[in-house]
Amino acid sequence: MEMNTKRFLVRPGDTVSLADHDPAETGGLTKKEAKEALTQLRLELNELQELLYASEEHALLIVLQGMDTSGKDGVIKHVITAFNPQGCQVTGFKVPTSEELAHDFLWRVHRAVPRRGMVGIFNRSHYEDVVVVRVEGLAAEKVWRKRYGMINDFERLLAGNNVVIRKFFLHISKEEQRDRLQDRLKNKRDHWKFRVGDLKARARWDDYMAAYEEALSRCSLEEAPWYIIPADKKWYRNLVISQILAETLRSLDMKWPALEPGAEGIQII
Ligand code: ADP
Repeated sequence: MEMNTKRFLVRPGDTVSLADHDPAETGGLTKKEAKEALTQLRLELNELQELLYASEEHALLIVLQGMDTSGKDGVIKHVITAFNPQGCQVTGFKVPTSEELAHDFLWRVHRAVPRRGMVGIFNRSHYEDVVVVRVEGLAAEKVWRKRYGMINDFERLLAGNNVVIRKFFLHISKEEQRDRLQDRLKNKRDHWKFRVGDLKARARWDDYMAAYEEALSRCSLEEAPWYIIPADKKWYRNLVISQILAETLRSLDMKWPALEPGAEGIQII
């Protein structure tokens, strides 16, 4: 039994208010039910990805955005591992280097777009250029404001060239982030994940939410939709994303490549 994922979709033209989306939602499922469903979906995702890889007609680009501790790394660890690593590439986008800053903001992003047959995962993305850049004042408003349209044009270009794009905003509550950050301080083996600097973004939580709301509202396209994923419960987050990916891959109507001409009837001796 599968859930209806439409309610997580930001329909093009919608104005998003994140306060209307419950980060702790679990769709009435128990953790056990979700884990069972996820086990099934992982098998299917693995097969679908093999077909994507073999047929080489489409690339799949998965964009992950969210506040610190929202689970971007967790999704890569628990969802993306359903795929064969040979067909995947993960790219993390950090503070731009001086070389990157000397180019247009999409330069580093375009280079990381997966080729046909591959799944590309963006751990952060060009959306940082209208979120952190806006909130921290790293560029003038007249610079970042133009970027929504540029991002839409860019994603349309990709989609028009067989790059299937799905974008996930991992929506956690401020309270859940507090608990997760506190846990990082508590557990020795998580100390490496804690950066005092992350508290700076937490202190500007509302500004970040406003920046995300505008990005989600302006840049959800038919061909490159945003989904708002309830992410307080990791198991639900993983299930919802897995199901959306399975639906996406199923809808591509991919075909196994035919046997090479002349190979029919060959007997291997
Ligand atoms: P993680 O993604 O695990 O948090 P880092 O701690 O290295 O990895 O974080 C990357 C940092 O780079 C984030 O603070 C993010 O906001 C920042 N960043 C990413 N892209 C940009 C950008 N275009 N401009 C400024 N900062 C950026």
